[in-house]
Amino acid sequence: MSTYIFGHTTPDSDSIVGAISLSYLKNQLGEECIPSRQGEINPETAFILEKFGFEKPMLKRNYAGEKVYLIDFMESSQSPSDIEEATILGIVDHHKLGDLKTDSPLEMWVRPVGCSNTIVKQMFDYYGVEIPKELAGMMMCAILSDTVIFKSPTCTKEDTKACKELAKIAQIEEPKELGMEMFIVKSDVLTDTKRDLVLRDFKDFNMGGVKVGVGQLEVVDLSVFDNMKEELFEAMNKIKEEENRDSVLLLLTDIMQEGSQLLVLSDDNSKIESAFNVKLENNQVWLPKVMSRKKQIIPFLERQF
Ligand code: MG
Ligand code: MG
Ligand code: MG
Repeated sequence: MSTYIFGHTTPDSDSIVGAISLSYLKNQLGEECIPSRQGEINPETAFILEKFGFEKPMLKRNYAGEKVYLIDFMESSQSPSDIEEATILGIVDHHKLGDLKTDSPLEMWVRPVGCSNTIVKQMFDYYGVEIPKELAGMMMCAILSDTVIFKSPTCTKEDTKACKELAKIAQIEEPKELGMEMFIVKSDVLTDTKRDLVLRDFKDFNMGGVKVGVGQLEVVDLSVFDNMKEELFEAMNKIKEEENRDSVLLLLTDIMQEGSQLLVLSDDNSKIESAFNVKLENNQVWLPKVMSRKKQIIPFLERQF
């Protein structure tokens, strides 16, 4: 029996870096842990791993009989299908309380901050463990990613403080510049299939007994999507039907304009319209100032379902 640390089903940079950073900390504390991932990594994460010279964590989708720490999620809908047969030793997360159950007491580090790696940084400080330079650089990037270079409403003082301290360790003078470089990599939406784009940062939620999937693409200029909306809707429709989802939403977030174009395929559009107090036109609507799925989308949907 080994101990694995991994993030949500479709991993983002916070999930991947968090698996690595938390494993490093645990190993330093004498608890042998292996970082892993439930799915393929996205281009932004590949950029971060390469920049700081790390390998991607091992791909592992089954955890029956293993011990696990969860980082960056605590929802059954974002867990491996056999999570109930694993022993959850702990959770490090910055999302709403999920629906997972455990048999035994566990370690919980859950805080309303902008990034799981901010919490991991605080754990390093708590235990007095030094963070290696390259690891600090990756953790800093995870924070820049999750907080959209501090623009997201989820960003707190603790995130900016952690980011500043990590930048110092990593000897990176202009974190925001590196952040922008990262988001330009993230804005490459031309090489992937439309299906892969919808699924690149996709999360399922169980809302009142039905499955609602919400994807998000964060780019520096929304015009990259101008000629692909129709194909995106086709891909969304397929994804909706495959797993009998009630709704599939896609947030196209413009990080410069600071808002999101919401694409909607739902069994009941009126629920989505009421959630955000808007009228959909061609199954779309522009939501000014909306950048966070966690804070500005999911809670409003949950009230409707
Ligand atoms: Mg995440
Ligand atoms: Mg996160
Ligand atoms: Mg995100």
